[in-house]
Amino acid sequence: MRRLLLSSLGLLVWLSSSVLLPAEDKKADAYLKKRLEMVAEQLASRDITDQRVLEVMGKIPRHLFVGPGHRDQAYEDYPLPIDEGQTISQPYIVALMTQCLEPKPGEKILEIGTGSGYQAAVLAELSAQVYSIEIREKLADKAALTLHELGYKGVQVKWGDGYFGWKEKAPFDAIIVTCAANHVPPPLLDQLREGGRLIIPLGSTLYFQTLTLITKVEGRPKVRQISGVRFVPMVGEAEKKKDG
Ligand code: SAH
Repeated sequence: MRRLLLSSLGLLVWLSSSVLLPAEDKKADAYLKKRLEMVAEQLASRDITDQRVLEVMGKIPRHLFVGPGHRDQAYEDYPLPIDEGQTISQPYIVALMTQCLEPKPGEKILEIGTGSGYQAAVLAELSAQVYSIEIREKLADKAALTLHELGYKGVQVKWGDGYFGWKEKAPFDAIIVTCAANHVPPPLLDQLREGGRLIIPLGSTLYFQTLTLITKVEGRPKVRQISGVRFVPMVGEAEKKKDG
């Protein structure tokens, strides 16, 4: 009986190394192929010219930031649902926001709206430290786990209302807001260093917004509108000043 057990265990080990693993490898290859196609067809062919952004998005396993049921669509040209009725942004929008933000090695970045953690991973590859705040506890926990499992030591995730920023870690070189608001939360501007960049989808939180890039020049916001976008609303304190 024991011998039978041992030999079936041995068979299992053999099976998992020679049959199961290659299938996993094949799957990983298929994702890599999709990922490189995404970079070429959705990013480089549009207006994403920052080589570092293209490189990083060709490297990060985006499929591991969505649930198993959505993995095969992870490299498609649209946003995908994550838990709690929220979404992971379309790859092109992640690339565009990152390119506009110009994260540099050594910089400290604040993200509002961790969601799946994918945007935080992209930023972590291009800067020194990312602080990310998520208002939904379940999403904050899950994103922190995903980022930990993938070895992103340069990201810290906090559960809370990002409207107030992260005062203890300020000032930030750049701030990215990945949920829509009808105004820039004043604490975020306060926590941005002189010359720092802030990107946010601004406008009606129910319909469309304008992706807006703000640079802090002599303490004042210098505003540049980038493009029309559609994001899930910023909830919490931001909602108290509703635009309907
Ligand atoms: N950057 C994410 C996508 C974010 S979706 C990614 O790469 O996957 C927007 C996220 O903002 C949602 O998860 C939502 O819960 C969160 N959010 C909404 N209001 C917030 C607030 N006041 N503070 C922090 N996070 C907020």
